[in-house]
Amino acid sequence: MPSKEILQLGNPLLWEASLPVDDVLASENHALIQDLSETLAAFREKSGFGRGIAAPQIGCLQRVIFIRVQPTGFAGPLINPEITWASEDHFELWDDCFSLPNLMVRVSRAASIQVSYQDDHGATRTIAAEGDLSELLQHEIDHLDGILAVQRAVSPTAFSTRDEWERTLRRGSANP
Ligand SMILES: [Zn+2]
Repeated sequence: MPSKEILQLGNPLLWEASLPVDDVLASENHALIQDLSETLAAFREKSGFGRGIAAPQIGCLQRVIFIRVQPTGFAGPLINPEITWASEDHFELWDDCFSLPNLMVRVSRAASIQVSYQDDHGATRTIAAEGDLSELLQHEIDHLDGILAVQRAVSPTAFSTRDEWERTLRRGSANP
């Protein structure tokens, strides 16, 4: 199955809230999960980054995200994910997104969260996440509510192009 086109910032579908999946076992839902998995893999291969994708990014307003933390982290679909607990403790990071691939946004995310979701067999599961996985899940679940990283910017200067950001990183590692 070929990977799908990823909607880009400016496409109004990205601002829409997605609907819960009623029938997790339906063949359309399995096809959607397959599309998300393959689109994520193809994007990562092309761009060298990418750990997660949300269904609205391929134009499907359903509450499904797919995570693949390389090489040995969490991998798989989360259907109808909900953050059931978030720590008061937050941290800031430069966030990126397939839908705004040349833009970096400084955002603040909860350091730790708990998420309940259904797996692709319809079983209800809970995941506790901190650090990288915590911010990744918050980013992808935001997509299901029509929220993009640009709306989470911590200040009016919280933006950088990817090129600028990579140059700064290289300077940082050359002159610590
Ligand atoms: Zn994104």
